[in-house]
Amino acid sequence: MDNSISYDGGFKFKPDYKWPEKGTEKECPKCSEKLELVENRKTYFGKPWWCVPCQWQFSEEDLLKAREDSLEEE
Ligand SMILES: [Zn+2]
Repeated sequence: MDNSISYDGGFKFKPDYKWPEKGTEKECPKCSEKLELVENRKTYFGKPWWCVPCQWQFSEEDLLKAREDSLEEE
């Protein structure tokens, strides 16, 4: 008998996103529109930045990476 146990960590915890300070403003790396800063609620499991036109969430890391990528293209 080969009962290998697969453990995939099952539970969903709130991801530990770095949350920007209230009043911080950022632009969407895709469409350059101003991003909305989502309120950091315990019940909210998404990323801190929300782009309305793109319907897309961004974390601080995503924005940083997008900026680095665009710098490399120049
Ligand atoms: Zn956008």
